[in-house]
Amino acid sequence: MIPISVPLLGEEEKRAVLEVIDSGQLAQGKRVEAFEQAFAEVCGVKHAIATSSGTTALQTAVLAHGIGPGDEVITTPFTFIASANAALFASAKPVFVDIDARSYNIDPRWIEKAITPRTKAILPVHLFGNPCDMEAILGIARRHGLVVIEDACQAHGAMVGGRSVGSFGTGCFSFYPTKNITTAEGGIITTNDDALADRARLIRSHGQRQRYYHESIGYNFRMTEIQAAIGLVQVGKLQRFVEARRANAAYLSVHLQGVVTPVESPGTRHAYHQYTIRVVAGRDGLVEHLTARGIGTGIYYPLPVHQQVAYQKLGYGGHFPVAEQASQEVLSLPVHPALRPEDLDAIVKGVNSRWS
Ligand SMILES: *Cc1c(COP(=O)(O)O)cnc(C)c1O
Repeated sequence: MIPISVPLLGEEEKRAVLEVIDSGQLAQGKRVEAFEQAFAEVCGVKHAIATSSGTTALQTAVLAHGIGPGDEVITTPFTFIASANAALFASAKPVFVDIDARSYNIDPRWIEKAITPRTKAILPVHLFGNPCDMEAILGIARRHGLVVIEDACQAHGAMVGGRSVGSFGTGCFSFYPTKNITTAEGGIITTNDDALADRARLIRSHGQRQRYYHESIGYNFRMTEIQAAIGLVQVGKLQRFVEARRANAAYLSVHLQGVVTPVESPGTRHAYHQYTIRVVAGRDGLVEHLTARGIGTGIYYPLPVHQQVAYQKLGYGGHFPVAEQASQEVLSLPVHPALRPEDLDAIVKGVNSRWS
């Protein structure tokens, strides 16, 4: 089976983990700080604050912006549920707007129409590693005095105009095993704002600047030294991994037939966390056909957030036709750096043979 994703950990990561164990310092040590510095550097930002997951990075970012009860956060319904939950965790309200049919990202044309006096933030998601239209989103945010929190959990290495995602607003990344780089579980917040970075650090660690002196109510959302040690090795491999993903994606886009291949907007660098095609009719049949040929696939996401039972229970309804149709038609194919040329050929032959 050609898997849809594989964590790529080697001898260096193994050695780094053993060094932590031997050191006796498993938490709150110098590796987390070093990882934060290394990640801030690759993103071209002043601060990075490591967390226990991408979800807690998002939650911390929302809280650090002072978003709370009664506030609204505009986001996409076509994402992993954590993007929207980040607002709920702060007792704020996620407000959904529909997506663009080609990029699968939030459609800026709808954002302005959804703004109310309660709107505090726009939370775009760089879905599949494809950067959102940041110029349009930043323009709207500026005109209306809104904060931008980028869910870049799938987009390490993605860029707009030579600038890394996560450097336009407050960035949130995940290091879950399927992501472009991993720390097993883990996350990070990126920002150029000193005060925001300070608040995020307090929220992450029980509101303490000095141990056992608490100036605000915080959480334990810390990353461990073991995770950071893995992350330090992985961050050095990020550009190489993303280049391999992009080369695999380019090959697939040239050779695949009968499906709608992903788009990359001019001036952007798609990080291809997922290589997601649209199958206008017969997606389930194609999945079966590929599974029988040993090719793993994934559907991200089969049900938009506003239609999830958890959100229906909260009274969410609404109709976002572009997102709903995408959830019926998208299919992700393997694109990860471990693919060999023969794997890529098998994927191409697998898809194309479905229609011949
Ligand atoms: C993975 C992911 C998250 C959450 O990250 P975790 O590390 O799993 O908590 C949030 N948003 C998106 C879009 C993701 O893909």
